[in-house]
Amino acid sequence: MHRPMTEPDRLASAGRLRIAVVGGGFTGVAFVIHATRLIPGPLDIDIIEPSAALGLGHAYSASDPLHRINVPSERMSLFAGDLSHATDWLFQKQILPGDGASTDAIGHHYVARSHYGAYVADTLAKTLTAAAPRVSLRHRRALATAIRPADGGWSIALSTGDAVEADRVALCFGHAVAGSPCPISAAAAADPRLIANPWRADGLSSIDKEASVLLVGTGLTMADMAASLLGRGHKGKLIAVSRRGLMAQPHGLFADDVNFLGDCAPPLTALGLLDLVRRRVRASTDQGRGWHPAIDALRYNLPRVWGALPPGERRAVKRRLLAFWDVHRFRVAPQVHAALAAAIGDGRLVVEKAGVAAIDANQDSLVATLRRPGGALQERRFGGIILCVGPDRDLTHNPLIREMFAVGLARADAVGLGLDVDAGSHLIARDGTVQPNLLAFGPMTRGTFGEMTGAPDIARHIERVAGLMAAGAA
Ligand SMILES: Cc1cc2nc3c(=O)[nH]c(=O)nc-3n(C[C@H](O)[C@H](O)[C@H](O)COP(=O)(O)OP(=O)(O)OC[C@H]3O[C@@H](n4cnc5c(N)ncnc54)[C@H](O)[C@@H]3O)c2cc1C
Repeated sequence: MHRPMTEPDRLASAGRLRIAVVGGGFTGVAFVIHATRLIPGPLDIDIIEPSAALGLGHAYSASDPLHRINVPSERMSLFAGDLSHATDWLFQKQILPGDGASTDAIGHHYVARSHYGAYVADTLAKTLTAAAPRVSLRHRRALATAIRPADGGWSIALSTGDAVEADRVALCFGHAVAGSPCPISAAAAADPRLIANPWRADGLSSIDKEASVLLVGTGLTMADMAASLLGRGHKGKLIAVSRRGLMAQPHGLFADDVNFLGDCAPPLTALGLLDLVRRRVRASTDQGRGWHPAIDALRYNLPRVWGALPPGERRAVKRRLLAFWDVHRFRVAPQVHAALAAAIGDGRLVVEKAGVAAIDANQDSLVATLRRPGGALQERRFGGIILCVGPDRDLTHNPLIREMFAVGLARADAVGLGLDVDAGSHLIARDGTVQPNLLAFGPMTRGTFGEMTGAPDIARHIERVAGLMAAGAA
């Protein structure tokens, strides 16, 4: 499947559409799958991804079986027209019903994220087998370092010194690496008890089981790390901090019958949006269905609702409401929620409101300076610190984006959450022109669409755009 291209291949490829995909995580592979299925005619696809495995990326390369999908598999199909595709695959592979731990009280399945990654990778392999020899895929194990227009198409420079030429490019390089929340002294940075990258497979082994551990962040990454520590019998206290102390909420009723806008026009201000959310939540809870259906209804309507908000109001949403939206929209798997709730109940896990102003180390311990609400600083000692702060939000820390900004190929969206794209996912250049055949997908387009983080949102959008490409409309 990933053999190098030979000269006869090259000759045979004349007249074939050349597509380059930058990033081979979930988004890049979802793009390859839908492009292969929907775009007719011969395709030569190069996927540029340094990791050996395709389809996993940050989310699905998790090695701890306690790191579960946080959306039931019933809602994580790669295909809009076949919603049971992922669950059927999990049953075929006898991953389900398994030991029963993956299935919650109402029969929803939250398997280990590595199993979902295997589903994505297997779907890619099957799609390519079914499309051979019309479609070929080459995996280039490198980082893309620059993109330039070339001969009516694009030339992508690779970290290996090679270049990939393509008629169309799909940028799918996903989540930036986690940022640093505060200054970290050289001594702390060199201390194995400070875990800056929580997704490193062997990360937690450097933390003593009796140690008190500071988890910086209280979102889904913190939930995964706390679940891992508790799962391996950690005895010391876990203290999770964030400025607002907000934790990802548990799931409730899944119901897709709420019309978020109803007969209202899309709100034009952040406050108007908040007001409408409150009204929908109140109506849903009054019916005894809880807040979840109202929040999910907004999620499905987000492209329209977000698109109607002027840029200044989108920025107000980002500043004031995004943190609250995230903990209701990105919910935690029931198994992880139960483990955390039990640990909070018996005091093994404490969630506090605090920022972290600095991290240092001495011989005995790591020392964190916590900034309490109101600004008071407090020094606390820990036997381990895990940074669970999520992706770096500064786009220019990504070298490829920095390069594209420098040459004017791309610009930030109006909210500063990612790259500016049009409704068909085409990149918009610094001078406002739409880039033909240069597209971006996945989390870096969230600022344009309002939501583009969850696997189903990404897959649906890609399926739609690949359909437009097939029809010659994108
Ligand atoms: C920990 C975690 C758990 C999640 N769990 C769920 C879940 O349960 N359900 C759900 O619906 N959603 C979940 N999500 C969200 C969702 O699935 C992700 O948003 C999605 O996986 C995004 O994939 P991606 O390929 O865009 O990004 P990534 O996973 O970040 O992959 C990007 C890939 O691009 C490569 N890359 C980066 N830069 C370059 C470059 N310059 N050149 C070449 N390659 C490059 C990287 O090596 C990487 O493999 C989760 C996300 C995370 C982070």
